[in-house]
Amino acid sequence: MLSFWYKNFSHIPRHHGDFHRAKLIYHLLLFVCILAGVVTALNLFLFDAKEIAFIDAIGLTLSLCIYWYFRKTGNVKVAGWAVTILFITIIWAFLTVWSGNNYGIVWATLIPPVAFFLLGRSMGTLVSIVFFSYATYIVYGHVQAGLTYQLSLGGVLNVIEVLIAHIMLFRFYERTRADAMLQLQQNREQLEIIANTDKLTGLNNRQRFDQQLHKYVVDAERKQQPFALLLVDIDHFKRVNDQFGHLFGDSVLQSLATYLQQNLRSEDFLARWGGEEFAVLMPNTSSRQAYQLAERLRELIADTPICEHEVTFSGGIAVWRPGYDAETLLGHADKALYKAKDNGRNRIEMYT
Ligand code: GH3
Ligand code: MG
Ligand code: MG
Repeated sequence: MLSFWYKNFSHIPRHHGDFHRAKLIYHLLLFVCILAGVVTALNLFLFDAKEIAFIDAIGLTLSLCIYWYFRKTGNVKVAGWAVTILFITIIWAFLTVWSGNNYGIVWATLIPPVAFFLLGRSMGTLVSIVFFSYATYIVYGHVQAGLTYQLSLGGVLNVIEVLIAHIMLFRFYERTRADAMLQLQQNREQLEIIANTDKLTGLNNRQRFDQQLHKYVVDAERKQQPFALLLVDIDHFKRVNDQFGHLFGDSVLQSLATYLQQNLRSEDFLARWGGEEFAVLMPNTSSRQAYQLAERLRELIADTPICEHEVTFSGGIAVWRPGYDAETLLGHADKALYKAKDNGRNRIEMYT
């Protein structure tokens, strides 16, 4: 509804700090324009009060000018100040022109939420204090003059209007806060993914692997359920780089990562451990099962051209036993991997 009134600016995207400020400027200008338009028409045609209608028409024109300026420039700072000053002027007129019976003082309570949101904490505080001092001075003048307020229908209506305005402003505040929290949550999740992902292969990275290994060790200790760790190291990978260049080497790493991921069980946890090394955590797996799985994987890779080249890897397996911590297990798998290299590569060895 009324979506034509709201124009988005490319320099104020949704996550920008000024996004909701811009929205509030549009909301308030729409509110003032409708109010000033209705009151102008009423004073002109119903109450035949041409002077007051003239003042209302000035308010309407000023609002439209600010709206036009804001739409054209998207300058939140200037438009924010202009809207706040417009609001203050209207409320000042309420306070000054009538002598209190309309309970215009309640309109002054709208200044802090508007000023704080549009001008920020420091200026919002300053404007609120200055304006409240002025409002207090006016009311004090009324008291000094012995004026007593009569609760008129206009006064009651003013209180209701201000309450409605407050509810709308607080709804807006709450929505803004909820939006910001959601944005933060999404950013946090995105950052977590980035922090745990290897950029080249898209696999879990070393940091994520270390966390997961630690978790496996704690779980295994609690349930007394063994798991296996397989370390994979591509054979003579330096030669691939030297012969075809590092970019080609990167493609080989990416393709191999995809193959490994596709051919592991869904419960296995694969990570890029280092340069051309990968690590697989196999939950609830005996040494025999782990060996069979690793051997099947090794054969598959050796028989499948990767980036149209023969690529082989060596693997070392270690199985968790009660009392082992993460470092012990990694040390064992690493030893088994060295053994596989020493025994001629393209093979799997078990730590014994
Ligand atoms: P071995 O069979 O003994 O493991 O021999 P190797 O050549 O694979 O082992 P070495 O440790 O001598 O060399 C590993 C190479 O892996 C060296 C390094 O340039 C390469 N490497 C590590 N990370 C990356 C990477 O992200 N991209 C590319 N293209 N190469 C990488
Ligand atoms: Mg290596
Ligand atoms: Mg290697």
